Amino acid sequence: MIPGPVTVDDEVLHELGKPVRPHYGAEWTAQYNQTRELLQQVMQTEAELHILVGSGSSGLDAAVGSLTRAGETAVIGTNGYFGERLMQIAEGYGLKVVPVESHPTEPLDPTALEAALDRHPDAAIVGVVHHETATSVVNPVQQIAAITRARQVPLFVDTISSLGGIPYAMDDWGVDVTVAASQKCLGAPPGVAPIAASERAWQIMERKADRGRGWYLNLQTWRRFSQEWGRWHPHPITIATNTVLALRVGLQQLLADGLDARIGYYTGLARRLRGGLRKLGFKTVTPDEALSPVLTAVYAPEGVASREIVGFLREQYDVMISGGLGEGLSDRVFRIGHMSMQVTEADIDLILEALQEFQQRRGVSAAA
Ligand SMILES: *Cc1c(COP(=O)(O)O)cnc(C)c1O
Repeated sequence: MIPGPVTVDDEVLHELGKPVRPHYGAEWTAQYNQTRELLQQVMQTEAELHILVGSGSSGLDAAVGSLTRAGETAVIGTNGYFGERLMQIAEGYGLKVVPVESHPTEPLDPTALEAALDRHPDAAIVGVVHHETATSVVNPVQQIAAITRARQVPLFVDTISSLGGIPYAMDDWGVDVTVAASQKCLGAPPGVAPIAASERAWQIMERKADRGRGWYLNLQTWRRFSQEWGRWHPHPITIATNTVLALRVGLQQLLADGLDARIGYYTGLARRLRGGLRKLGFKTVTPDEALSPVLTAVYAPEGVASREIVGFLREQYDVMISGGLGEGLSDRVFRIGHMSMQVTEADIDLILEALQEFQQRRGVSAAA
């Protein structure tokens, strides 16, 4: 019950454990293309999509590096650890970063982002995290996309911990680049980063042909192979075939359940957990009206470091949850992931029982 990688279904594992297959040929190409289509359905997009071999962050790197040139300006929304990572990536590509910050427990403010674009009308890119996994805050991507679309600035979104568990509609909202990862709500092992780019994003890449940002994480390399070798080898490299096929099973299961049903199921777990936490006197980082369906971040009681709770659950209950992430939060917050169909109501109840036991043993009750 950590916020990824998640426990995966046996069918997904079975696929992963099959003999290694070649990364080209008619059979593989059909399987790869089908996986891309399933991903497009989950992202709710018709945008051209590639499956990079790397963790989710490789996709973030590709998004920034493919769309910008050194010296340009990036407006980055940040309210936590992963927002900061977007800034570091942009800095790594030599961009001037304009941060638009919110308090770590508050969602990003679209008005502040709009004001930043007023001050920096030359911004080459805007980047935000959809679900800030450090705090469980869900950011208002739809409103932000309305602003960037009106101003014709490309928006890239880190949906690594949200896609498949929190409502997201790339085309309807007008997002230009969506970056995901296999190991969270998509229910597969880690290793690949799906990334989709809008027509507008591809046009920007064409226009900036002098970007010269390497080869592997340059999206145009992926597009070129997909076009030129599309009939037998639709990607530039030896792709992680078994991981892609395991992801395909995860996606088939997700779409068979239905996105709404999944989100509903996770929301039910979140509510059950929050109800129990409240009875025990724990305080969640976000209010119920702004709950994340897939992750619950909770303050540790006064005088208790969250890692003690994490350690107690691990040792006494054989359950793994996570501590906090980021400055000022790492010891104060613990995080319970419920972004997998392997997590049940019984697991939520077990966590609550364990937390009650922890309180009794430590002689603490109310939260900070
Ligand atoms: C997990 C996570 C990442 C990092 O993903 P990797 O696959 O480890 O590179 C980035 N952003 C968010 C929001 C995440 O939850």
